[in-house]
This record gives sequence, structure tokens and C-alpha cells, in this order.
Amino acid sequence: MPLYTDNHIKIYNSLTGEKETFTPISEGYVGMYVCGPTVYSNVHLGNVRTFMSFDVIFRYLKHLGYKVRYVRNITDAGHLENDADVGEDRIAKKARLEEIEPMEVVQRYTVDFHNILNKFNFLPPSIEPTATGHIIEQIEIIKVILEKGLAYEVNGSVYFDVLKYNETKPYGILSKRNLEDLMHNSRDLDGQSDKRNPQDFALWKKAEPLHIMRWPSPWSDGFPGWHLECTAMSTKYLGEQFDIHGGGMDLKFPHHECEIAQAEACNDKAPVNYWMHANMLIMNGKKMAKSTGNFILPTEIFSGDNPHITKAFTPSVARFFMLQAHYRSILDFTNNGLLASEKGFFRLMDAINALDEITPTITSTFNIEEWRQKCYEAMNDDFNTPTLIANLFEAVKIINQLKEGTATITEDDLALLKTTLHAFAYDVLGLVNVTSTESGTEKLSGAVELLIQLRQEARANKDFATSDKIRDELAAAGIQLNDGKEGTTFTTN
Ligand SMILES: [Zn+2]
Repeated sequence: MPLYTDNHIKIYNSLTGEKETFTPISEGYVGMYVCGPTVYSNVHLGNVRTFMSFDVIFRYLKHLGYKVRYVRNITDAGHLENDADVGEDRIAKKARLEEIEPMEVVQRYTVDFHNILNKFNFLPPSIEPTATGHIIEQIEIIKVILEKGLAYEVNGSVYFDVLKYNETKPYGILSKRNLEDLMHNSRDLDGQSDKRNPQDFALWKKAEPLHIMRWPSPWSDGFPGWHLECTAMSTKYLGEQFDIHGGGMDLKFPHHECEIAQAEACNDKAPVNYWMHANMLIMNGKKMAKSTGNFILPTEIFSGDNPHITKAFTPSVARFFMLQAHYRSILDFTNNGLLASEKGFFRLMDAINALDEITPTITSTFNIEEWRQKCYEAMNDDFNTPTLIANLFEAVKIINQLKEGTATITEDDLALLKTTLHAFAYDVLGLVNVTSTESGTEKLSGAVELLIQLRQEARANKDFATSDKIRDELAAAGIQLNDGKEGTTFTTN
């Protein structure tokens, strides 16, 4: 088991714009917070990519021996349609349109989120807190900020006073914006808001009469501002200062900027040592958007049921494809890219499986320790998964030469090669070992043949209810049974 002390990870810190050597606040422990999804629709593939980047970071830190507390929240209230504190609550709107309870919306899409992440073999975070479960903590933070004179109440709503805050602490340090430019570029409020200044943001909003999601507070029956939940939950579970805060690039401003301001206002210290941001996912070179049709749901990748792809891909192939880009690079999702990754993925899996058939000798023609070190160096360099994967393919080459007999390996080196490959492919990258022959039809046909046999037995026993049930359930799963003279065959659609 490798130890964290042997490894010096460098992390690109969005706050400083530099790669910095990672030094956790408490030796051996890492606190990491990642902004989770707002659960009002099926999880977007771009979000899956962001969470996957942090899943790999979580896995790698654990692999090095760190004790990691990974907090990823669920936003189930407070996120309005427009980031400037206007519009309907996203969850309440969906509930109104579908004539269901907001909590039904939350439940449906939280389940969807977990299902998709499970398919992609994500590790669950250590804590997954919800905004609605931390209303009291959020109210307490508002009280502190009001006491410090950095917020004001108007008509039952409370706003953070960005101008006042900026007098002593710079607002915009993360996104490299300065307040004067922001003010210059923003429109007047036209008297439509209670805010003193357009840059101010809501800590608490008084609920309109028809707004369902509301809680009592000292100021009004209302709901917390979107940025506040992350400050409340990260402080509660990770402390006033913690190691890593992550999220998608789009959250840098205003969300993360506001988180910094809130925490600084409360505790007079920077809440986060390393800010990390995952880049966007686009499709076929363009922004992914439902409205333009340039869009794919994660489930459609697994079923192949989308015009932008020519076949279904197993989740590990899609995962492998996404990790072939560094988390700070834009990832272009294309059918050709997936097809190429599929080939590479199966080459890697087949090579790992072939290790069991290799007979060691008394000498090695490779320096396995050096190769292993290169794998660690790749991940230590700001979690560079594409470089790591390139190193894994170096091992594939070695394994193929060993198979062909053009190279040799000692027993110890073979063991080291195997444990290292397993560690990086399965534990760190989170891939699942499926071989090209197992992944598709062969595995399926075995199961379907069994069901066809059971159906024949049922028919022989005149149990037509069972035989029809087998046929109908298979049809519902996209498998058609065709009864012919030669027996029953099946087709998939
Ligand atoms: Zn957040």
C-alpha cells in the first residue's frame, strides 16, 4: 500500500492560477467539498464528467492512504432559474408543471442521479447533505453576517452587501473580476429588486404567497439563497477551513465567489486552500443543448438510443473515454471518440486478463519499478489521467511482448505489474473489467437461452401465464422471441 508521504501531488489551484504542492491541513487527512446537482431534471452528461473528475481524485487520494472526507451536496431548494436571484425555484417550477410535490421532483431526480453514477461505478461520497436538511445552519450564518454589518434586510429578504464587503476584502478574487468592472457592466435594477446594488446576492428570500418551499426565519417565511447552502454544509462537515473545493467551471462565478465572501464574512479567513474546477463537456464541437438537439442523456449512451451515436457503449467504455481527457481540458463527446476508446479499453482489459497466463522467468527485460513510478508521477501532476492511461498502454505493449515470447519477466516484477495495473485501472480510474466477448451479446444469449428453455417447459406444462409473461417481459426489455419450426430464436432491437 503506497503512502501519501512518498508522493507530492501538485494541484492546479484556480485561486492562484498555479500548480501548487498539495499540503493538507491535517497530515494524512483530506477534506473535500464538491457542489452537487440541483435535482430538478435528469443529470446532464457535463455534470457527470465533473463529478467523475472528483471521483477519480477521491479514489486516488484514498489509494495513496489519505483518510478523505468527501462531501458532495444535493441542492433540493433555493436554486432559482436565474443566478441573479430572480425567477422561480427550479424544483418548485418542475413540480408546478408536472403537478406533483417538490419533494417528488427531488426524490425522482436524486434517484436518477444515483442510478447513473452507480452505472458509471462512482464511489459514494462520505456525506451527501441536502440544502433543506440544513436550513437552521443557514439561518445561523445569516445572523452572523448581519451582526457583522455585511448584510441588510429589506421586506423580509436578506442580501449580502458586496460593496461593504469589498471595502475590506476583495470580491472577485477567484474569478479574477473586480467590483468596479462588474458594476460598470451591470444594468440598473429598475426598481424591480430590493437589492441596494445589482452585485448583492440573496442570503434569504421572502417567499411569495404561492411559493410552496418555505421555512420560518427571523425575517420572513422564505427560503435560503442558493450560495448559502454550500457554505453551511462545507463549514459544518469540514470546518471553517478545509483542503479542496471542487465544481464545474461554470460555478466559479457567481456561486464560488459568493461562497468565499460568505465564509470570509463569518470567519475572517479563507475557507478553502485549493479550488479546483473541471472544464466543460461539448458534443461534436458544439455546446450540448436539448433545444438544438445536440444532446445525449447518459442512459442513451448505454442503450445506443440516440442519433448522435451508432451503437451502445458499456458504462466503463464511456468512463474510459471521459478520463482520456484531462479534467481541465474541454472534452468533445463524439461517436468516433467513443469507438476509438472502446477499442483501447478492450485492449487494456484483454492485456490485464492475459497476465494470468504469463510464465515468469529469472530475468526481466523491463524496468517495471520505473514504469510504476511514471504512473504515480502522472497522477501526482494535477491528476493527469490521459498521461496515466498512456502509461497503462505502455504496459499493454509489454504484456503483448511477453505473450509473444519476445520479452521476459521475473515473478516479482510480474506481481508488481499486476498489482499496479489493477490499482490504477480499477481502484483509481474506476474501470470495471469487462472483456469484449463478455460485454455484449454472448453474455446476453446465455441468459435468453435459459429463459427460452423455461418458457418451453411452461408451455409443455400448459402454464401459458408463465410462458406469456416470459415473452412479454423480454419484449419489454427489447428482446423479441421468434417461434419457428427449428425452435425459438431471438432478436434484439
Ligand atoms: Zn456549491
